[in-house]
Amino acid sequence: MTAPRVSAPSRRTVPLPRDWERTRARVLARWGRVCHWCGEGNADQVDHVVPASRGGGEEENNLRPIHGTPCHAEKTAKEARGEPRARKAEQHPGDVR
Ligand SMILES: [Zn+2]
Repeated sequence: MTAPRVSAPSRRTVPLPRDWERTRARVLARWGRVCHWCGEGNADQVDHVVPASRGGGEEENNLRPIHGTPCHAEKTAKEARGEPRARKAEQHPGDVR
């Protein structure tokens, strides 16, 4: 039997840009801190929709607010496993009750 792998190393390949703090604040404000992963408010981090490891850029249109935990950790874990990016089903406007 082999020992189970406990954790995968971070796969960040591109350093954060120098003005990251400003970009981050702008992205949080732009989206009203609504987490793009779970749809709840008060997100405290900014996530790359397309990860840098997959060619995603630092442009604001690739950045969305996300909760550090559990959302960001969950998304990163999914990406590390090579699963396609999960996307919450969006309610059809005609279905809103
Ligand atoms: Zn969230």
